[in-house]
Amino acid sequence: MPAFDLLIRDVLVLDGRDAPGVHGDVAVRDGRVVAVAAPGALAGAAARIVEGAGLALAPGFIDVHTHDDLEVIRHPAMPAKLSQGVTTVVVGNCGISASPVVPRHGPAGDAVPDPMNLLGADEEFAYPRFADYRAAVEAARPAVNVAALVGHTALRQNHLDRVDRAASDAEIAAMRAQLRESLDAGALGLSTGLAYASAFQAPEREVLALSEELDSHRHAYATHLRDEFARIVPALDEAFAVGRHSGAPVRVSHLKCAGADNWGRSREVLAALERGAHGHDVACDCYPYAASSSTLDLKQVTDAYDILVTWSEPHPDQGGRLLAEIAADWRTTLLGAARRLQPAGAVYHCMDEADVRRILSHPLTMVGSDGLPRDPRPHPRLWGTFPRVLGHYARDEKLFPLHTAVHKMTGLPAARFGLRDRGLIREGACADLVLFDPATVRDVADFHDPVRPAAGIYAVWVNGRLAYDGREVAGERHGRFLAPH
Ligand SMILES: [Zn+2]
Repeated sequence: MPAFDLLIRDVLVLDGRDAPGVHGDVAVRDGRVVAVAAPGALAGAAARIVEGAGLALAPGFIDVHTHDDLEVIRHPAMPAKLSQGVTTVVVGNCGISASPVVPRHGPAGDAVPDPMNLLGADEEFAYPRFADYRAAVEAARPAVNVAALVGHTALRQNHLDRVDRAASDAEIAAMRAQLRESLDAGALGLSTGLAYASAFQAPEREVLALSEELDSHRHAYATHLRDEFARIVPALDEAFAVGRHSGAPVRVSHLKCAGADNWGRSREVLAALERGAHGHDVACDCYPYAASSSTLDLKQVTDAYDILVTWSEPHPDQGGRLLAEIAADWRTTLLGAARRLQPAGAVYHCMDEADVRRILSHPLTMVGSDGLPRDPRPHPRLWGTFPRVLGHYARDEKLFPLHTAVHKMTGLPAARFGLRDRGLIREGACADLVLFDPATVRDVADFHDPVRPAAGIYAVWVNGRLAYDGREVAGERHGRFLAPH
């Protein structure tokens, strides 16, 4: 019997802490890292040996901001994530989650509200209890590990006849009971999407009441802020108030300064984030692009920057065109065209590059793709986020050292989301690993051709088993559902 299942030799080990890499050998057995040693120092045979000279080994990347809730069941091979080195996804962000949802029986009627349609078609919402969703993920056995938040908008859809109003005390009590049951079944925390019309009318007191169900040691409060435009600082203060009220750690989702009038405010916004983090556990995530993407929101229609239409249910042939071109063809206004395209999706070039860099560089910032797997022309962040941080921002632009880039996508998110034994390479850790070439790693997907795997990722292991060999995903899948301890 070989001593090790896998031995990766003479590799630059970036262990997930914000510290420079060290050359060494890493040994794996039974899904765990069992030894990290100087090159050549490990005695014992291995079933498989990988020569890592010239390459770097990091903990598998943790995508803290995804909308993969149904994708991990629908297409459990997860090539968009594995090909970037991602081994764990956090789903249920922005107030929208696949469970618990009862669309066909909810008082609001048959259809799930915008933006829950980003996750899937109405009939795919088939998990009335969180435990049903967890069982479905475990049965699908996706190629990546999955941790799941419960969405506030999903709870509202279940208990309110209309989502464009505040919940009553009785409705809040019903949502709390459903949240409690979900947390007991292994949910990671609560998310909100307060900017969306489906949650905007929820007053702060509604969110405060729900947050009382969170256990400050086990559960997070993740929030797509009520405003990412002019009123972003009051929106941050609202998020911090929820954190202080409940004791729960606060995770600000895809922090950005959105809208041309808001460009250049990242210093002020980061100062507000630091204020919130003083005496409380506050962090944020960010994707490495100056463009956002979601459903086509009439409130966000503007001529100040390009808006790319990615899909439209009534006009699928318009996907891939600029809203301005469509409006000109149709001899109507931007808003008129946007109305006719509904329901639809869009990419908004709504950010300033200097703001993106400043936010991405901040020590409280983790990396999250916010990728939209159901979009036929997805924002390139779906396939490119993690290699773009490593290649473009760390190596080429020298925004921060490579080990800091790795830390933002491994050790930092594992600690901040309580993902025990993940995010670090050390003895006893789960063997989620990515082998890549620091000299060539780069994102290939772009806005014109967004469904393209990254370059420079050589191999990915999930729970000690090979999941991606640099060309193809493995036939066997070894991801797990991760519940808080
Ligand atoms: Zn969001």
